[in-house]
Amino acid sequence: MDARAISLVRTTFKAVAAVDGGPEKLTRSFYAILFARNPEVRDFFPASMESQRDKLVTAIAYAIDQLEDLDRLLPFLAQLGRDHRKYGIVDAHYAAVGDALITALEQFAGNEIWTDEVDAAWREVIAVMAGTMMEAAEADDGPPVWQGTVVEHLRVLDDVSIVRLMLDEPLDYSAGQYVSVSIPSRPRMWRYLSPAIPANAAGEIEFHIRRVTGGWVSPALVGSTSVGDRWTIGAPLGSMTRHSAPGRDRLLIASGTGIAPLRAQLMEMATKADNPSVHVFYSGRYPCDLYDLQTLQQIAAINPWLSVVGIVEEETDPWWYDGPQYRDHLGGSSPIVGQVGKVVAEFGSWDGRDIQIVGSPSMINTTKFRLQGAGVDLSLVRHDPW
Ligand SMILES: Cc1cc2nc3c(=O)[nH]c(=O)nc-3n(C[C@H](O)[C@H](O)[C@H](O)COP(=O)(O)OP(=O)(O)OC[C@H]3O[C@@H](n4cnc5c(N)ncnc54)[C@H](O)[C@@H]3O)c2cc1C
Repeated sequence: MDARAISLVRTTFKAVAAVDGGPEKLTRSFYAILFARNPEVRDFFPASMESQRDKLVTAIAYAIDQLEDLDRLLPFLAQLGRDHRKYGIVDAHYAAVGDALITALEQFAGNEIWTDEVDAAWREVIAVMAGTMMEAAEADDGPPVWQGTVVEHLRVLDDVSIVRLMLDEPLDYSAGQYVSVSIPSRPRMWRYLSPAIPANAAGEIEFHIRRVTGGWVSPALVGSTSVGDRWTIGAPLGSMTRHSAPGRDRLLIASGTGIAPLRAQLMEMATKADNPSVHVFYSGRYPCDLYDLQTLQQIAAINPWLSVVGIVEEETDPWWYDGPQYRDHLGGSSPIVGQVGKVVAEFGSWDGRDIQIVGSPSMINTTKFRLQGAGVDLSLVRHDPW
């Protein structure tokens, strides 16, 4: 893809996204065209398309953003292709999606923007994306999904559960990756979760899940999961750790259940003799939100390369929380009170470290902004795309 084609694709997408309600109208139009032309494709999607629409725009925006960095984009698309095997989609579906997207973009952009050159540039980009996904899916001879049985469900906070499963077959993932998960009571509503322990031959896997108020799936995962439930899990995704230089010191920053992919990495590192220095900042609103701090402190107690700091926005737990108090069950030093990005940026000098941030998009952006202000080179900062 040449620079001009990339620029044309980016400009058209920005023009569409800049219009009030543009991304939403584009995705509505895309799905309407896709389902009208290929009614059978509707069965791959959940009854409610609400969050699906956001995912499409986010995925396209991410891919367009990375068009110059094919070393990062192509592995991401390959993972996505392997993950999409869970739907049972075939090559014809990729063509249908590409055609529907071109038609929707063309309709939305209008004749003035949608020139022949723009059309050709979009077709080239879509061909690269679909081609990479299809190739990776075809080359993958592992199962399209893994089934597992819930063996333990711990409700560590009112809105946070730890769920442990035993998979029928072990799933090979790198610590720090995420997987899509589907439960029988929410058919076809796949949600990403990050395993909180490294992959193992026994097929044990653990997830930390926060209930999102008004969400379709997380309230069921946190509130209704029982031992014996069967979950379906897709192929692993994510390359947050792939670019880390092995010997380079690390700064890991998480909020809430964002600790899951980081603790999996720490647990894996703890099995090795030689590790770089690792600083973990684990943040929450209240002290009780640091439900996993004790585990992290236990790992740090026997691994001198690791140091762990808790950060909270409020000094005390809320009045309605009646679980163990911070000092009773965590011991150690008190968490720092403040805004996570600000506290980390002011804590020390982080330039030259490999940095991972896991949390909500706003937490990630604010933290990156603060680190940049403190002189950190943002090319060393990793986070998952969505
Ligand atoms: C790479 C990745 C890894 C993830 N790992 C984990 C994990 O380990 N544990 C975990 O609990 N979740 C994780 N998530 C989030 C998870 O995939 C779901 O998005 C989340 O559980 C909400 O799903 P839902 O069906 O309840 O909400 P939806 O029905 O999808 O959304 C309902 C509404 O809530 C909003 N919303 C969605 N998620 C959030 C959020 N986190 N905070 C605030 N508002 C939100 C949506 O924009 C929408 O308006 C991860 C997400 C990604 C992208």
